[in-house]
Amino acid sequence: MNVYDSERMYELMQPHGYIVTNNYDDADLIILNTCHIREKAAEKIYSELGRIVPYKINLYKKGKKLNIVVAGCVAQAEGKEIIKRQPMVDIVVGPQTYHRLPELLNTISNTSERIVDTDFPIENKFDELQKLRNINNPVAFLSIQEGCDKFCSFCVVPYTRGAEYSRPVKDIIIEAKDLIKQGAKEICLLGQNVNAYHGEYNNTVLSLDKLIFEIANLEGIQRIRYMTSHPADMTEGLIKAHGEVEALMPYLHLPVQSGDDQVLKAMNRKYNSTEYLSIIEKLRDVRPDIAFSSDIIVGFPGETDRSFENTLNLVEQVNYSQAYSFKYSRRPGTPGSIMQGQVSEDIKTERLLALQEILDIQQCEFNSAFIGKSMEVLIERRRRKDNLLVGKSPYMQAVHLLEDKYDIGNILRVNVFAADKNSLKAKSVQLLSKAAN
Ligand code: SAH
Ligand code: SF4
Repeated sequence: MNVYDSERMYELMQPHGYIVTNNYDDADLIILNTCHIREKAAEKIYSELGRIVPYKINLYKKGKKLNIVVAGCVAQAEGKEIIKRQPMVDIVVGPQTYHRLPELLNTISNTSERIVDTDFPIENKFDELQKLRNINNPVAFLSIQEGCDKFCSFCVVPYTRGAEYSRPVKDIIIEAKDLIKQGAKEICLLGQNVNAYHGEYNNTVLSLDKLIFEIANLEGIQRIRYMTSHPADMTEGLIKAHGEVEALMPYLHLPVQSGDDQVLKAMNRKYNSTEYLSIIEKLRDVRPDIAFSSDIIVGFPGETDRSFENTLNLVEQVNYSQAYSFKYSRRPGTPGSIMQGQVSEDIKTERLLALQEILDIQQCEFNSAFIGKSMEVLIERRRRKDNLLVGKSPYMQAVHLLEDKYDIGNILRVNVFAADKNSLKAKSVQLLSKAAN
């Protein structure tokens, strides 16, 4: 979602004459779009700000101004503390107010004023953002839902992103059509809790499965994904859609967090391990080739050796194609941070390593199983070193090709001849669909 928000900030600034640069040296505006989910992510901001400050001083010496903006969830959570800790920051803007960025920059132009804008505003960010998109990429992100009302006891999202909100279907369709017109072949529908989506549509409300049917009907769309889903919101309708909508890719990120029922309860996850496994089974029934990924936290307060074993058992049963795993991070203001039974760093590290060993094996085995098989690949980019093409499989694997003759946005049939943990290698066999432009 931060990638999506960053794209929207770029689109906001473009009409004001800004273009993107990869060098701090060339910049007169630097926006750090930040993540508050774990302590490490939040702390990184201050070291990065330390790296940026000399560029500001340099420009200042030349009589010019470099504006430094901190956006995103760290901005939301820490507000004016950021300016206290790093006074060279000009603007602090939250995830629900970044549409005001041009106006805020205008206010501080030629002054030494500092602004902190972390309201949850009355006006709707999406209404204020430009209707049309300006990102031409074969794979596009589209935010359809924001915020979260689930309040898992480890998580800051409900506090930083705010209450759950679903965008109206009409607006999503306009944005999707626009993205397709600009070359998107694959659209990933985004939300902190995307399958809780319930958007307004002609005086009724559509759930995510119905929205997926609407998007699948748009001309030119080849692939649809959605993320991130909460297991408790995997409705029968959504599960069925995986067997019915051809464009819905056979891959689902469905975070389990833990395989232990007591830990899941303490996490306030609203499902148990049996219910999670039954969702996996139902999805495999309707779409036998579907691959699963997950988020797993080790060392949540109260997690014993026995509960951790239950997590390992669940991982063995699901057999993930890949998964993200984290040591529990105590986040200020969340119920988990003050729970009894905090787990030591050493034990967290030990458990993380044990878990990652199993996940790595599963990922390698998943990838190796494709050697000698054919699959469809959407070309996303060229490798910098040799211009060769890199694409994405239906199962989210990176696929490296030996060729350079096709275009970004082409969909090819390929034969896989090698695999490692992180990618597949393949040779193209046939061009299936051309790039849109
Ligand atoms: N809405 C998604 C998760 C969004 S946060 C869901 O409900 O699954 C992304 C991931 O960060 C989470 O799935 C969780 O595994 C991890 N995470 C969130 N808070 C954390 C914390 N305090 N410590 C460690 N990992 C955390
Ligand atoms: Fe955080 Fe996801 Fe739980 Fe919401 S559902 S509180 S975003 S982990």
